Amino acid sequence: MKLKLRVSMSQPLITLDFLDTPTLETPSVDATTHAHEPSGAVRVSPATRTGRQRKLYIESYGCQMNFSDSEIVSSILFEEGFDTTEQLDGADLVLLNTCSIREKAEQTVRMRLKQINGHKKRNPGLLVGVLGCMAERLKSKFLEEEKLVDLVVGPDAYRDLPQLIKQVDGGQKAVNVLLSREETYADITPVRLNSNGITAFVSIMRGCDNMCSFCVVPFTRGRERSRDAHSIVQECRDLVAAGYKEVTLLGQNVDSYKWASEDGTEKVNFAQLLESVALVSPELRVRFSTSHPKDITDEVLHTMARHENICKYIHLPAQSGNSRVLQLMNRTYDRPWYEERVLAIRRILGEDCAISTDMIAGFCSETEEEHQDSLSLLDFAQYDMGYNFFYSERPGTLAARKLEDDIPLDVKKRRLQEIIDRQQLHARARYARMVGRVHKVLVEGRSKRSEEQLSGRNSQNQVVIFPKGNFQKGDYVNVLATSTTGAALIGEAVE
Ligand code: SAM
Ligand code: SF4
Repeated sequence: MKLKLRVSMSQPLITLDFLDTPTLETPSVDATTHAHEPSGAVRVSPATRTGRQRKLYIESYGCQMNFSDSEIVSSILFEEGFDTTEQLDGADLVLLNTCSIREKAEQTVRMRLKQINGHKKRNPGLLVGVLGCMAERLKSKFLEEEKLVDLVVGPDAYRDLPQLIKQVDGGQKAVNVLLSREETYADITPVRLNSNGITAFVSIMRGCDNMCSFCVVPFTRGRERSRDAHSIVQECRDLVAAGYKEVTLLGQNVDSYKWASEDGTEKVNFAQLLESVALVSPELRVRFSTSHPKDITDEVLHTMARHENICKYIHLPAQSGNSRVLQLMNRTYDRPWYEERVLAIRRILGEDCAISTDMIAGFCSETEEEHQDSLSLLDFAQYDMGYNFFYSERPGTLAARKLEDDIPLDVKKRRLQEIIDRQQLHARARYARMVGRVHKVLVEGRSKRSEEQLSGRNSQNQVVIFPKGNFQKGDYVNVLATSTTGAALIGEAVE
């Protein structure tokens, strides 16, 4: 089943006010397609008008993997006679693609379901489904708890949606939360929702085999599996042919990507995949996320160094700067290991390579001194960006079963704020050191602040804003950065 449909339209990316506020001043004002959305982001399907009979409204929460999955779901349902719509009113099917990573994310979805209940009362024919991590975590319990939900579908069961919808059309409730060891949706061409037509996300693997003690992902998204390398490269070729200029290869732990052909004659690791994608076109920028500190190899770093079009930006979540806490988190590396990986990045890719992190404040039994270690790791690594959270216990995880969630909420929040404040200093300094230099910027669209300005990114993923002149979306432009806001570079085009 292959579907070729490119949707180019405006990007409804909204932040609902009851969601988490982003924990760090990120450049998201001019950035809507970053691999790590602030945790308050929710994406609504834009409208496709191809004359299909029924209308699907899909709202996606959480990480980019979920946004990417919604593109697969839309593709499957397009074949089943559904156009997407950006209006809840008038939709025949409402799907919430949910996130379980923190308790707040789940509360958000529950509140949203209450609102949708109001719509359903006015329109009893409306079908409501829950997809993604919450569907997996709560399974059929969801149908009992949230009476209005008709359909519960886990992340590996989207191919079954047409059959499940028929069941619901027939008046029954439907559930499929079976996890798979094989499903990668390799043959499904996603309908690009919320796309600017320039940057796209390409899923290269699913699930996760790590057992970080705080994390629900291995339970909700199942075992790690890598997608056929040929289908990934082909998807990137198709994107280039459709005018796209940047792909981000997505996985929970891209460095452990490992694919072998059935007869075993071909074996591809992440560095090799990265190289194959970089060779698709010198005009195509390649990004990837997320790198696990235990798995990122020098081979990957050397591959990045060899190809100008592989962007010099690595998301390398540390989670903590203290070795005892890292051990409790079951991250399988300690602080010296992490520092060595940062030094390897600097040695092979230089000072300019951007690095970002995720940090968790107030993990079980974390002392003030151990929290200070997280702050000192920020100083050591000088991150360009940070996605920081306070610890939220998730039922069923190793930590929930074995460790006491004993840091009071006010202490967690205070530590988180200290992490955010320290990280902001480094982010600002990293922006400041780029002033006075010329950056190759891929234009993503007009700046949100002004019709007269364009917005794009440099290789390091920093936002760059400059007067539009005769340039347009999709152009590469050399921009001299003349100042910075601390969250974006301001500049002007040069020859
Ligand atoms: N696979 C990625 C990695 O290992 O870095 C992370 C994926 S997870 C979806 C994104 C981030 O959410 C994590 O890096 C972690 O900082 C945060 N996170 C996960 N579980 C959490 C929890 N129980 N409480 C707070 N933050 C959590
Ligand atoms: Fe969760 Fe750890 Fe897997 Fe990342 S690597 S998804 S934090 S278990």
